[in-house]
Amino acid sequence: MKIESFKCENCGSTYMPNGDLMLCPKCKYPLLPIYNLNFLRGKFKIEKLKNRRPFLWRYWELLPTIKKKNIISLMEGYTPIIESNRVKRKLGVKDLKFKLEYVNPTGSLKDRGSTMLISWLKQLGIKSIADDSSGNAAASISAYSSRAGIKCTIYMPEKTPTSKIVQALLYGAKVLVVAGGRTETAEKILTDMEKGKIYYASHNMSPYFLEGFKTFAYEIVEQLEGKLPDHIIFPVGGGSLFLGAYRGFVEAEEIGWIRHLPKLHIVQPEACNPIVKAYEKRSELVEPVEEKETVAGGLKIVNPPRGRSIMKALFKCNGTAISVKEEEIIEGYLLLAKEGIFAEPTSATVIPALKKLVEDEIIGRDESVLLPITGFGLKDLKTAINIAEKLKQYN
Ligand SMILES: [Zn+2]
Repeated sequence: MKIESFKCENCGSTYMPNGDLMLCPKCKYPLLPIYNLNFLRGKFKIEKLKNRRPFLWRYWELLPTIKKKNIISLMEGYTPIIESNRVKRKLGVKDLKFKLEYVNPTGSLKDRGSTMLISWLKQLGIKSIADDSSGNAAASISAYSSRAGIKCTIYMPEKTPTSKIVQALLYGAKVLVVAGGRTETAEKILTDMEKGKIYYASHNMSPYFLEGFKTFAYEIVEQLEGKLPDHIIFPVGGGSLFLGAYRGFVEAEEIGWIRHLPKLHIVQPEACNPIVKAYEKRSELVEPVEEKETVAGGLKIVNPPRGRSIMKALFKCNGTAISVKEEEIIEGYLLLAKEGIFAEPTSATVIPALKKLVEDEIIGRDESVLLPITGFGLKDLKTAINIAEKLKQYN
């Protein structure tokens, strides 16, 4: 689908589509693509998708236009949805499903964004890129870049443990170690971009990366044959999955696939919860929080670049944002594992969040709930070993 324009949700400016545009020239806020869905409204039937291959490019009509020869895919997306058994009983909810995002090729949800972003960069003829991440995005961007024949440099804070970047290194990315923490790393990569030293393909700010996550919503509509869950809870760091899913559901409603949106909720660890703080103040303005340690490493984003867009979406779909404690995350992690789901701690935050939302009667016991399981347990090997060591002592 052709992008009609790029919009800045911070200052309201709109721009003509331009492949290189990522941030609003006026206020430096990450831009959002805008489409004209009129020609699909009521005409694009979901049954049409039936015989297509089981990956996210099956929804190509709703994604930015990319030539087939430029698509870099590892068969990402179209992840399975399974019924809960033990967690459901333990939390006393009637209808609970999981969507297993860790089934994606590099073991996390990020592949939805990477296939879109790297295919787009391939189409632009870009030969070398840089990104900053010390987690799942680093692994994913590295894998897709290597497959595309694009050189990839990942900027990382000096203290990042090798266990966090092992996948990126093995996929063939070059790692540039920056003195200091995440803030210094972000500053360094922006300065290098402004000096023209690198092509900064920021997964957190690219409009294309975000578009890949719309497919999460389309898949729920298609796989559950229109019987949408009443609630979905998202772990939010940079917010790609939450925002992408929101955009996907809005489009699905506009073209007539669904009548209304599910309620989309957000969970963050207490140690890093800028979105929850803004929600509690009923404010669209997300203010940065102090960088503290959390077992949910994927959610350690102290100042989400798309904060305002996340708040707008959350308020529009009547969602809630709540925090969970470190020990509650570990409990959720172990409970999920007992159901046969080995998720990284970041994903496990949804379990205590569901428990709280049920206790607070925001989610009714007879309502249906879907939880995304965003990353595989072995992704965070260090935490997995620490928790397993403690279990060994008790056994
Ligand atoms: Zn702006």
